[in-house]
Amino acid sequence: MTIDVEWRDYDVVVVGSGGAGSAAADAAAAEGARVLVVSKDPIACSDTKISEGNATVRGSVSDADTERALSDNLRVSGADLPLPALTDAYARDSRPAYDWYRTHGLRPKINPTRQGPFARPLAKGGHTVARSVGHKNAGVAFSHAAWDAVIDSARIDYLEDAWFLDLAVAGAEDGAAGRVVGGLVYHAAAGTLVAVRAPAVVMASGGLNTLYFPKTDTMRGNTGDGYAAAARAGADLVDMEQVQFLPFCLTAPASYEGLLVGEPSTASFLGVLRDRHGTVILDGVYLRTRAECSAAIMRAVADGRGTDGGGAYLDLTANARLPRSGKGFMRYLETSMPSAYRTARQALSKPAVRCEEPWEVRPAAHYTMGGIRVDATGASAGGPGDGTAAAGLAGLFAAGQAMGGVFGANRLGSTALTENAVFGLRAGRAAAGHARTGPRPAGDEAFRPLIAAAVARFGYGGDQAPAHLKLELQRAAWDCIGPARTADSLDRMDAVIDDLAARAGRAAIPDYGLWNQAFIEWAELRNLLDVARAVTAAARERDASVGGHVRLDRPQVSILAQPYSTVVRGRAGNGGVLRFHAVRAHRPRTPAGRLLVMRLKDAWRKAQAKALCLLPPGLLDPILDRRYRAILGPADAAPAVSPGGPRAAVADAAD
Ligand SMILES: Cc1cc2nc3c(=O)[nH]c(=O)nc-3n(C[C@H](O)[C@H](O)[C@H](O)COP(=O)(O)OP(=O)(O)OC[C@H]3O[C@@H](n4cnc5c(N)ncnc54)[C@H](O)[C@@H]3O)c2cc1C
Repeated sequence: MTIDVEWRDYDVVVVGSGGAGSAAADAAAAEGARVLVVSKDPIACSDTKISEGNATVRGSVSDADTERALSDNLRVSGADLPLPALTDAYARDSRPAYDWYRTHGLRPKINPTRQGPFARPLAKGGHTVARSVGHKNAGVAFSHAAWDAVIDSARIDYLEDAWFLDLAVAGAEDGAAGRVVGGLVYHAAAGTLVAVRAPAVVMASGGLNTLYFPKTDTMRGNTGDGYAAAARAGADLVDMEQVQFLPFCLTAPASYEGLLVGEPSTASFLGVLRDRHGTVILDGVYLRTRAECSAAIMRAVADGRGTDGGGAYLDLTANARLPRSGKGFMRYLETSMPSAYRTARQALSKPAVRCEEPWEVRPAAHYTMGGIRVDATGASAGGPGDGTAAAGLAGLFAAGQAMGGVFGANRLGSTALTENAVFGLRAGRAAAGHARTGPRPAGDEAFRPLIAAAVARFGYGGDQAPAHLKLELQRAAWDCIGPARTADSLDRMDAVIDDLAARAGRAAIPDYGLWNQAFIEWAELRNLLDVARAVTAAARERDASVGGHVRLDRPQVSILAQPYSTVVRGRAGNGGVLRFHAVRAHRPRTPAGRLLVMRLKDAWRKAQAKALCLLPPGLLDPILDRRYRAILGPADAAPAVSPGGPRAAVADAAD
């Protein structure tokens, strides 16, 4: 069969129409570029839309919230993996970036004394200053701004229901890095292939969390397409082993599987995690990180002590049982994360929702901290150390969840929506500049093999169903490169990928062009296989546990160890699946003295939390009652408390 090929010319192509893509498109258009936005979901329907709508706005509560403070928070919580140039850029631009959303219709509640948005009064875990601004319509408010930016400009065209398949790269012969000359798109709604000639492409295609479906709370389109296309074209990826799993997501019923019901803070002062026998596997849960909670659950599962649903029990009953403070706890539970609690109310039994019974929970993939390796302008970077754009793939830019390097081993709550605009705007501007000054695409040779490969798939009479292969891959990814990994599981993952790649080559695909679901499944499967290989290669290079990367067979990384990022670069292997070569890029370490002080403070908080639990109920109840009153305040509005203290930690909200 021959599917029609339509040719188009633009200065900049933006892949994705969430927060990052829309910001990039708007910035590139403002620089005079002709822009095409390509989006497989309807415009602005993405993780940005389903988010909780909390955004980091530096200085929204205090003038002491300096750029230094914000940049340091990102790096320390990311275990020193984040690139200082990126965290500094984030801190510098976070306020104008937030104002970009406001220009496109975001309407926060305004604090007249500070002439800015009202931030939630308590600092979220890892932020040393309160700076998280909530929004009435949560993520919808942000996606509406994204939609407004894309449809508002005469310089921006868009294609929805359109799958970006591959980057077209010219001049990559004889070991040269090559440069982007456009890309190939499958426009499912029109039933055509669209070959877009453009000197610059911005990847804003979100994460890879669908690799773990159904154990994920993100949109199903997170199939890692941007990472895979970039790697196939020769770009570096960074810290791909760092996937953030939220610990408290549902195991059942099936339609709620993977959805978020709480954060560590939800456990409050007395909540614990228990294994299937009722033995406590983690106490002081409210003071723990997401990664610590996920690791405790997955260690129990690996030891055969997991629940029937492959998780553990989040036991909040001790909080609710106390006669006076129990009421405060229930109010806290209802108000600190309203949407997560709403999900719990819909999915769990009535006694469980009243916290008379424990909740069965399991981690779920939430965010991809790694991604396309970029410099502070969003340009693809390569080479040793921090990398440079000169050694990257010329003409490739990335922003949002598609880029790596800014969050390292752990992303703090409320930082992603801001990051979308910080790096979306930077990447859009840089892409427009590159299109203005760089060479224009000459000739269409780079497109020919891409078009031939895609056309050959339509009407391919194979014996495998790509949708089924996808499910097999997702199951294996959870078991082998999910929230807990071992050297053995990484080897098993490689074997599964080899097998599935071979079978993907025999995928049966009908010959029609219009909305060919099997072709879409095949294209996404190919990307998922490539990113699974990238995660596995990076996880093997990272031979100790840090942040989102938990090795059951290896120790936690020492605070005295030299931090490094993993950098992987692909080259085509048999069956078209990439093989990745992994190297380390060293990062500066936060001085050991400062880290030691942080560790000691943390140990002191945990000791205090333990001591509290040992008090008899008669003494404990009034103490906790006072604490809940302080947290909730007279009108359920929490007052300012010392960030980092136990009372601040318990009120951390999710993002
Ligand atoms: C439940 C939930 C709650 C969250 N809450 C918060 C919060 O309160 N605060 C916060 O800061 N962060 C939050 N996050 C994280 C945050 O929402 C996301 O990280 C962020 O919005 C990602 O933006 P993005 O533009 O990078 O990607 P997305 O918004 O996911 O957009 C990706 C775009 O790429 C498109 N795309 C992908 N592949 C292709 C392809 N091959 N061809 C064409 N188009 C493609 C998609 O269709 C989509 O348009 C939350 C996430 C979830 C899942």
